[in-house]
Amino acid sequence: MGTVAGLIFIIYAFSFRRAQRKGLKLARESRELGANRPIAQFPQIDEYRCIGCGACIQACPEGGVLGLAMGKAVLINGLKCVGHGLCAEACPVEGITIGLGNLKERDDIPLLSDNNETSIAGIYIAGELSGLALIKNAIQQGVKVIDHIKTDTTSSGTTADVAIIGAGPAGLSAALRATEKKLTYVMIDQQTAGGTILQYPRKKVVMTQPVDIPLYGRLTKKEYTKEELLEIWQETQDRFEIKVATNQKLQNIVRINGHFELHTDKATFTAKQIVLALGRRGTPRKLGVPGEDKAKVMYKLLDAESYSNEHILVVGGGDSAVEAAMGLARQTGNTVTISYRKSKFFRLKTRNEERIAKLIREHKIRVEFESNVLEIGDKEVRLALKEGEKIIPNNYVFIFAGGEPPFQLLQQIGIAFGARSGENK
Ligand SMILES: Cc1cc2nc3c(=O)[nH]c(=O)nc-3n(C[C@H](O)[C@H](O)[C@H](O)COP(=O)(O)OP(=O)(O)OC[C@H]3O[C@@H](n4cnc5c(N)ncnc54)[C@H](O)[C@@H]3O)c2cc1C
Repeated sequence: MGTVAGLIFIIYAFSFRRAQRKGLKLARESRELGANRPIAQFPQIDEYRCIGCGACIQACPEGGVLGLAMGKAVLINGLKCVGHGLCAEACPVEGITIGLGNLKERDDIPLLSDNNETSIAGIYIAGELSGLALIKNAIQQGVKVIDHIKTDTTSSGTTADVAIIGAGPAGLSAALRATEKKLTYVMIDQQTAGGTILQYPRKKVVMTQPVDIPLYGRLTKKEYTKEELLEIWQETQDRFEIKVATNQKLQNIVRINGHFELHTDKATFTAKQIVLALGRRGTPRKLGVPGEDKAKVMYKLLDAESYSNEHILVVGGGDSAVEAAMGLARQTGNTVTISYRKSKFFRLKTRNEERIAKLIREHKIRVEFESNVLEIGDKEVRLALKEGEKIIPNNYVFIFAGGEPPFQLLQQIGIAFGARSGENK
């Protein structure tokens, strides 16, 4: 009896130590990569309460956000946290709260009034840009800011009552509310309407809580697929003729003669009030090379399985680039080349480092280190290598050159950051 109990204890101790080692390694790795930093709200673990049961890890539908180290839950990848809060619900000792942490330490949270007005009167922020993630919050904030904006009825020609920047859930619900209130608006987006939902993997289960979309009605289900949700937005947009000027990036806002002038990369608009619904995910950084505007050039990979028997170039050397290249190399008949400007990969997650090394050894992926893309043609790509130029056949290019978060734009406009006067709830 004693021997059996001893054996069980040894097995338990062994697997516990192994889980500890893995957790510690992941936590160290994520600190080094800066991935432990959250984008918006994130789980804050009360170490004194946490009993290390792992219920929070299992409850998180995004996976990989939390881990265990030294018998306690730790934040492994804050960037993946989308604020569902299911970890907090699952914690049996109420040891997790979801919040923004110490605002004084966060230079990425704009200063907002209780009505989401920024430090510049007449410029509002709605949605994830405020620091609060989730579709439900974005929809509610889109409505809230339109309900609060001061409207004057004096006609002013082409100047819209409100300009809405960003056509994600926050911007779209702001536009619907503006339509409901018979306000004139212009809405622009640097991509197409849909926001971050467009970037979700195919068929992703999106978790929502009941929320009212202006003019449409209530989203009642707890779960939708990405495609169902996008269809709802599209139908609502069509039905209420919500117009979005797509592929236009906001570059600056200035106040002139009592109204705002908005400068995009394509046009100038004027408006009395502004709703910034830019999200926090940023704009993918471009290479600025000829041919980059071709339809075969993309900045994200959503569905690796739909590419087979293709010549594919992946640009970049970070985890996203390497993960995309590995996903594409796994499909039938693809020839995958990575172009990276540095002489070797660095700051990769250990798991990715090991896997990519294996695929390179097996000639399943080719890497051109110290290379730059010179030009993207219809059927080929021209690269600059140390030893000279090289032309390789090409059908698709995926660029992972990092992103430009929207905070610099906000600072340039003059919006203040730091501790704020009210929580957005
Ligand atoms: C992988 C993943 C899974 C998620 N899963 C869920 C989930 O299951 N449930 C849930 O509730 N939430 C989930 N979220 C979070 C949710 O998607 C966001 O909180 C929500 O989309 C925020 O809406 P938003 O309108 O504030 O911003 P976004 O949806 O990010 O939209 C911002 C828009 O602004 C545009 N834009 C940005 N900068 C400019 C510029 N300079 N000029 C013009 N346009 C600009 C962008 O192109 C974009 O269309 C998830 C997020 C991710 C990344």
